[in-house]
Amino acid sequence: MPSVYGVVTLPFSVREGINIFLDGKVPTENLRFREESLTFKIAEQAEEVSMDKNRQYKYPTMAKQLGDFKLTVHGGQFTDAEIIVMLGQNGTGKTTFIRLLAGLMKADGDQQVPELNVSYKPQKIAPKFQGTVRMLFIKKIKAAFLNPQFQTDVVKPLNIESIIDQEVTHLSGGELQRVAIVLCLGQPADIYLIDEPSAYLDSEQRIIAAKVIKRYIIHFKRTAFIVEHDFIMATYLADRVVVYEGIPSVDAVANSPQSLLTGMNKFLASLEITFRRDPTNFRPRINKMDSQLDQEQKLSGNYFFLEH
Ligand code: ADP
Ligand code: MG
Repeated sequence: MPSVYGVVTLPFSVREGINIFLDGKVPTENLRFREESLTFKIAEQAEEVSMDKNRQYKYPTMAKQLGDFKLTVHGGQFTDAEIIVMLGQNGTGKTTFIRLLAGLMKADGDQQVPELNVSYKPQKIAPKFQGTVRMLFIKKIKAAFLNPQFQTDVVKPLNIESIIDQEVTHLSGGELQRVAIVLCLGQPADIYLIDEPSAYLDSEQRIIAAKVIKRYIIHFKRTAFIVEHDFIMATYLADRVVVYEGIPSVDAVANSPQSLLTGMNKFLASLEITFRRDPTNFRPRINKMDSQLDQEQKLSGNYFFLEH
């Protein structure tokens, strides 16, 4: 507990140490240091869009030229209560696609994103608001901010209390990020567009932010498109993924949303990295290059996880 007490354990092995960190509890001390623990789902999402979902959305195949950069977006569909994670190197057009979905930018030609009711957290957060965090929330998301459920599910876990009376323009990068996540989720919308939520957050805060976002989106049956570089976060959040291919800053393609398994396979194949699952919490772990598992999985095309 910051400013209260600290406990240092004996050294653990890397595997044990990371699992204990994700779990939020030190078994040898019987000490819980975080309410939230992170485990990874076992069942892969079906490729087909399930029928019990209520809403269906579609966007067409589109193109966008920005200076010397050309993005092609392959058309896709999505539904409510799902999180789609964007996976791609820097400069492959993730932010550009998010801005197309947000309606902040038009695609070239006739094919356009239909009008969607969105809430958007930009990658770059540059606040001009004069006043405290509390004043900002009252001005922008009053209903949510005064809602006890929203306080419990979003505001409290992101530890906003400690910065609530600070001037917005004085906040650090990580503090701004947490405020921006609250602002984004607090605005009523069908589709939440969240560009790099874990930037400036430490690993502890990333775990909490991932849990808050996932719980909120699934509970309220919304859709989220999330740009995420942290592999653990991306795996935890994603029901499906949009994989970017091509040459950064020159010519890239955003593929249609596909299942976490097939999408990750495609992405990891391009990086020549294979993963296995940890048996305790199913988190992804990178196989050693050219180890037996690495070679076997590459041969069988199972870059993400071995399917049994
Ligand atoms: P990502 O979010 O995947 O890192 P972006 O969508 O931000 O990528 O940018 C994709 C490419 O488009 C980059 O090479 C960037 O420099 C270029 N780009 C973005 N906006 C503009 C613009 N307004 N004018 C010219 N080039 C741009
Ligand atoms: Mg970006």
